[in-house]
Amino acid sequence: MSFWNDGADIADQAAPDGPIETRWERRQFSAKLVNPANRRKLTVIVIGTGLAGGSAAATLAEAGYKVRSYCYQDSPRRAHSIAAQGGINAAKNYRNDGDSVYRLFYDTVKGGDFRARESNVYRLAQVSVNIIDQCVAQGVPFAREYGGLLDNRSFGGTQVSRTFYARGQTGQQLLLGAYQALERQIGLGNVEMNARHEMLELIVVDGKARGVVVRDLVTGEITTDLADAVVLASGGYGNVFFLSTNAKGCNVTAGWRAHRKGALFANPCYTQIHPTCIPESGTHQSKLTLMSESLRNDGRVWVPLARGDSRKPGDIPEDERDYYLERIYPSFGNLVPRDIASRAAKNVCDEGRGVGPGGLGVYLDFADAIARLGRHAVEEKYGNLFEMYQRITGEDPYVVPMRIYPAVHYTMGGLWVDYDLQSTIPGLFVIGEANFSDHGANRLGASALMQGLADGYFVLPNTINNYLAAGPFEKLSADHPDVVAARTQVEDRLAKLLAVDGDRTVDSFHRELGHLMWEYCGMERTEEGLTKAIGLIRGLREEFWARVKVPGTGEQLNQNLEKAGRVADFFELAELMCIDALHRAESAGGHFRGESQTPDGEALRHDDQFSYVAAWEYGDTPTLHKEQLDFEYVHPSTRSYK
Ligand SMILES: Cc1cc2nc3c(=O)[nH]c(=O)nc-3n(C[C@H](O)[C@H](O)[C@H](O)COP(=O)(O)OP(=O)(O)OC[C@H]3O[C@@H](n4cnc5c(N)ncnc54)[C@H](O)[C@@H]3O)c2cc1C
Repeated sequence: MSFWNDGADIADQAAPDGPIETRWERRQFSAKLVNPANRRKLTVIVIGTGLAGGSAAATLAEAGYKVRSYCYQDSPRRAHSIAAQGGINAAKNYRNDGDSVYRLFYDTVKGGDFRARESNVYRLAQVSVNIIDQCVAQGVPFAREYGGLLDNRSFGGTQVSRTFYARGQTGQQLLLGAYQALERQIGLGNVEMNARHEMLELIVVDGKARGVVVRDLVTGEITTDLADAVVLASGGYGNVFFLSTNAKGCNVTAGWRAHRKGALFANPCYTQIHPTCIPESGTHQSKLTLMSESLRNDGRVWVPLARGDSRKPGDIPEDERDYYLERIYPSFGNLVPRDIASRAAKNVCDEGRGVGPGGLGVYLDFADAIARLGRHAVEEKYGNLFEMYQRITGEDPYVVPMRIYPAVHYTMGGLWVDYDLQSTIPGLFVIGEANFSDHGANRLGASALMQGLADGYFVLPNTINNYLAAGPFEKLSADHPDVVAARTQVEDRLAKLLAVDGDRTVDSFHRELGHLMWEYCGMERTEEGLTKAIGLIRGLREEFWARVKVPGTGEQLNQNLEKAGRVADFFELAELMCIDALHRAESAGGHFRGESQTPDGEALRHDDQFSYVAAWEYGDTPTLHKEQLDFEYVHPSTRSYK
């Protein structure tokens, strides 16, 4: 029995061809515009207020559209983007170190292991420079050098310094900028903000996305909202693994509901495992903490040379240490991309050379940097990260090396979108981490903030016009049969979750699902493991629907009910992730197939068979549509950071 059906190939019809440098300009010129006077007759729903959704809602409203915005947090500025620490890339070349739009494009296509679209990535690199100008104009306090220029540091997978940062709080500062822009439009009456509301269904009428069904998380009231277009900026789905660096609330529901209504889901198995996280400390934990990649600018990664060496780090002499990243990858050293650094950490731990409880950790050591730069300089750059580490572990990283281990961090997969960021449902646009668009099989550090803001401030506000130019669309009322059906679906599902009244908590199911995913669809995947996982996930899902206990009612604040709905969707997503990982019998970036590696253990791609985006159509048995990838500029080669 096959786990999937093969469907027809698909293509990105919106991307212009011709010279890559002018594709974006030509797309903007060829796209239809909406006259400013007509924009106020058009309404757009934006789900999400992170960097992608916040910037999009503010920009669309600034352009004159009526916007209704939703988030499940109590304030738009609590979106998960606020957690981003290390920085945002841009090809400004302030350091005069050989950077350019082309180099950022090249690094990103290569870093993504040749599984991203060239057109999208080139546009991202072009737009990156505008983002910094926009944010500086908003007052985002980027770090500056003594002379006043914006400072830069390096992130993995690059040999230039192009990462702009605000200490270890870059996401927070960028989000405050987007939030101010959003608040301005809320104040002007152009954006209606609905915090504490969760989208539970997409409304599709005559094949077009026309609205959403939402639940007021405080009162439990269910309402429908209708508009001319819907934008999903609902973030990533790393929490399918239960433990991840994501905020606890991050989930896949908005995207998954759209997928069930016809939006293709692309590359679901591409998960980023970040190499520098604080190791798990026990079963009481509900999330993991990232230590920003920026720390690898100055921290050196090492483990003892000998297996089972349990001496304190300070007692291990230099010649008995293995600075394995510097040894194996001399060109990039500690700044190899995340997928490479994570796998290398796993390998040394598998060899029995890991440190800390259970041997699941490696050292990130700042002794050299402190000796070279002085403690004050290190504190200036990373002070808040060091403090966070000390608070969590009780160890002082200025004195003993940090212990780190890989953890789930980001999802490159997401809803399939074309060059216009439109999904396969007309009128449904998807931006930020929720789409699959720009990072291929592996995202380079500091590129998620870049993509979210590129999509929200610059790309979507241009491309959505082309769709809205045909509007305003037919006026719909709440008693339209498709609207009623979507609402009924939500009500029935909530009632079903409450009616099970079993004996196991939602969290216990989520934890077990996450464990399965980490074990079989985590850092290394095999055909045997994935096949087993699909069976186990199906069994656990059945048990969930028979035994889950959701106390309380639907007519009140009920966080168990919220979680139950999200975990139910995670079950379906998890199965698709395993099917996607199973069908892709190659290693690429964040997807490492045990059967497909070079003699020295590096990822082995099979470009002749898998140089495509896997776009999945929903069904009891999902259908695979392939979008073939062409590489005219950056030719696929063996990715080497040695
Ligand atoms: C700890 C950490 C540090 C990071 N550091 C960096 C970094 O330094 N540089 C970098 O480039 N990237 C970094 N990243 C990645 C980056 O932060 C995220 O990819 C990015 O912020 C995602 O932005 P977003 O706008 O797409 O989604 P989010 O910020 O996740 O926002 C999602 C929004 O959607 C809303 N939402 C979701 N579902 C629903 C629903 N059903 N109904 C209503 N609303 C909904 C939420 O309420 C929220 O407002 C980091 C990630 C983590 C976890």
